Amino acid sequence: MTLEQPQHIAELNQQLEAMSPEEGLRFFAENYPGKVVFSTSFSWEDQAITHLIAAGKVPVSLFTLDTGRLFKETYSTWEATMDTYPELRIKTYTPDYGLLQDYLESNGPNAFYKSTDLRKSCCNIRKVEPLRRALAGQAVWVTGLRAEHSPNRQGLPMVEWDEVNGVIKYHPLLHWTLDELKEFVNKNHIPYNSLHDKGFVSIGCLPCTRAIRPGEDFRAGRWWWEDASKKECGLHVHAEPFEKQAQ
Ligand code: SF4
Repeated sequence: MTLEQPQHIAELNQQLEAMSPEEGLRFFAENYPGKVVFSTSFSWEDQAITHLIAAGKVPVSLFTLDTGRLFKETYSTWEATMDTYPELRIKTYTPDYGLLQDYLESNGPNAFYKSTDLRKSCCNIRKVEPLRRALAGQAVWVTGLRAEHSPNRQGLPMVEWDEVNGVIKYHPLLHWTLDELKEFVNKNHIPYNSLHDKGFVSIGCLPCTRAIRPGEDFRAGRWWWEDASKKECGLHVHAEPFEKQAQ
């Protein structure tokens, strides 16, 4: 059975819904040995998954995308994570130098505020294209997505087929609430981004992230100058191939 067959994905969802996040991670690691990767941006969710992988010695590889525009607090969390889990290697992907140079020379360093197209081009160069490289040849991509994050994540299945990247996507914390997540992080003394204590819930690049006010949607702090329906960066949508997106 090929990875993407709908029946296979449906069966995986049935199996995984009954498992804890650690059991799910172990299930994929055993069934797709050497081909399971987890993308971390050092968020609360990602730190919890990193802890599960390290504490359970689950053979899942970690990687991060360094866009070059992250908060200093995010880099500090990255450092603290390396100190806390020295046995883990966090493979790092940076933007393609030539693409970034062309974009900056043509549009300037803050072009993401000028139009949605320029914002998406920046995300494509700094996030989406590096992600393509990180996922090449892999079978399963583990993410920290939770249903609470945004309206278009409410109906997400725990396991889905990512057509663009040709991998199974697994969201082990999909049904966790923010309170459950915070409790897990605190109970296990897991290092986390200090911006979370200052009203930042979903943390991305510095120029494109702000704190949210009580009652605001989780994603209100991302690309706040754009229409709410466009608030994805291309990492978690069934997007067109990178070359087409970047046009
Ligand atoms: S979030 Fe902002 S700075 Fe980061 S890649 Fe996207 S547009 Fe560029």
